[in-house]
Order: sequence, then C-alpha cells, then structure tokens
Amino acid sequence: MTIFAKIINREIPADIVYEDDQCLAFKDISPQAPMHVLLIPKQAIAKLTDTNEEHKHLLGHMMVKAGEIAKQQGHDEFRVVINNGAGVGQSVFHLHLHLLAGRGFQWPPG
Ligand code: AMP
Repeated sequence: MTIFAKIINREIPADIVYEDDQCLAFKDISPQAPMHVLLIPKQAIAKLTDTNEEHKHLLGHMMVKAGEIAKQQGHDEFRVVINNGAGVGQSVFHLHLHLLAGRGFQWPPG
C-alpha cells in the first residue's frame, strides 16, 4: 500500500482541501510553491501509463477538478505536473497531479 492509499484511508493525516467519491486533494508535505496540492484518484493506479480507455471519465473529472481546486485556492494561473516513472521524478506510485502556483515557473521545466 502506498502512502497516498493510507491518506485516502485516513491511516495517516493530510491537509485535505477537496474530496469526492472519485478523488482526493491535499497539500504536499514538501511544497515547491506557495500552492502545492496533490490531486489523486481514490482508485489505486500506479502511473498515468497504467490508465486506459476505462479511465477516461476519471481522468477528465480530475482535470476539471484540478482547475476548480486551484481557483478555490485563489489561483487562476497554475501549473499541473504528472511525473510518470522514477526516471522523471515519480517517487510515490499512486497516480497524482501536482497543482503548483504562487510563484514564477521556468519553461521548459527541469
Ligand atoms: P512525485 O515525486 O511526483 O511522486 O511526488 C510525490 C509527492 O508526494 C512529493 O512532492 C512529496 O513531497 C509528496 N508527499 C510524500 N509524502 C507525503 C505526505 N505524507 N503528505 C503529503 N505529500 C506527500
């Protein structure tokens, strides 16, 4: 079980900012920007590349919620990041969107 599954199950605490039947959003424990929220599906999906056509509704729902959560946190401008694989920085193998805002970001990221 990943640490995010434990957050879903309330086995470890988190600063939860949004929850519905499909997903959960909470503040990153090591924020990289003034707003750094993680949005995760409740379904245990390790990586974006583990999704398929069956997950289209869930993924679309999460993208809509990403925008709503950022706005609710006071940010019209924000960045969404998904690290897919250890080689690009994924450390928790439960799919998550990083929602980042409140400072300038470089492009390309890296
Ligand atoms: P990634 O490196 O893309 O897999 O992102 C994992 C993120 O989870 C990192 O930004 C961590 O700071 C964050 N994180 C790890 N453990 C916790 C936790 N218990 N509560 C909140 N965020 C966490």
